[in-house]
Amino acid sequence: MITSGGDAPGMNAAVRGVVRAALARGVEVVGFQHGYRGIISEDFVNLTTQSVGGIIHQGGTMLRTARSSQFRDYEGRKQAFEVLMSNEVEGLVVIGGDGSLTGAKTLSEEFDYPIMGLPGTIDNDIAGTDFSIGFDTAVNTAMEAIDKIRDTAYSHERVFVVEVMGRRNGFIALEVALSSGAEAVLIPEVPFSLLEICDNLKKARTRGKRSSIIVVAEGAGRASDVRDFVAKNTGFEARYIVLGHMQRGGSPTAFDRVLALRLGAYAANRLINGYSGEMIGVDGGKLVHNPISYVLSTERTIDPERLLLVDVMSS
Ligand code: ATP
Repeated sequence: MITSGGDAPGMNAAVRGVVRAALARGVEVVGFQHGYRGIISEDFVNLTTQSVGGIIHQGGTMLRTARSSQFRDYEGRKQAFEVLMSNEVEGLVVIGGDGSLTGAKTLSEEFDYPIMGLPGTIDNDIAGTDFSIGFDTAVNTAMEAIDKIRDTAYSHERVFVVEVMGRRNGFIALEVALSSGAEAVLIPEVPFSLLEICDNLKKARTRGKRSSIIVVAEGAGRASDVRDFVAKNTGFEARYIVLGHMQRGGSPTAFDRVLALRLGAYAANRLINGYSGEMIGVDGGKLVHNPISYVLSTERTIDPERLLLVDVMSS
């Protein structure tokens, strides 16, 4: 197995799930370090029951992760396939985002090689599952940071603009805005009017609201620019903060740990049972398997009802 692409809290729990479920079926597991790069360079460790002990609460990934440009080329994937064959590795579980799953699908199709995918990304932008591993932890981390920021925003009667991760989508931003009671959220998928947001902030101030939080997904604009605009158009004191990589780290929530364990164990069992080319996910709490081709060709879109709720709750 490998963890690949950006790290996500809960990847270790997924590794534990895969390893212990496979061992329970009498199947040995090896972990390649640094994603696809480690397959090409034949850099692997045997994963035993003991080696995946004491990792369930740790963020990051014990297998390390990386982005491999070599694997993007046919020659690199051929080399990876040869390493897998020469070491008698009979199937591969890949935990990562859409790029990692694309790589897994390509390897599988080019060499008729058994693979199983797990959604491991804080972005939650993968179809075929309600949640990807790491999303819940990232949202909770950002929410806790905003809870602290709100204390100081309230005391100084300031507007705080908080930038959260999400270059291409606003899944994290939306969930963070709802859970932290933010006054507005800016996401890349939906056009917004900063002037309208400023008007709403001014109206809220006349109603007696002394502080406000605006959550910005990084793909929707720079927090510093939003802060400048808001300060200029409202006259309120405004500050900004970019939460950045802290959202990737930290101990996974109970939700992410259980999700990752379940997905990992199910992936191992499906692979051992002879299935391939699937991504394991959850749908309404139940484990599901979908063809990776379906997952990659389906766009996950934000829930408009949630976006509307941010406005309703702050009006
Ligand atoms: P995140 O969502 O956290 O960015 P990701 O899995 O989408 O994770 P990528 O950097 O896109 O991260 O992909 C991880 C690795 O998967 C790449 O470094 C590359 O080795 C492999 N990969 C990505 N896209 C392809 C592709 N089209 N063909 C083959 N391999 C790919």
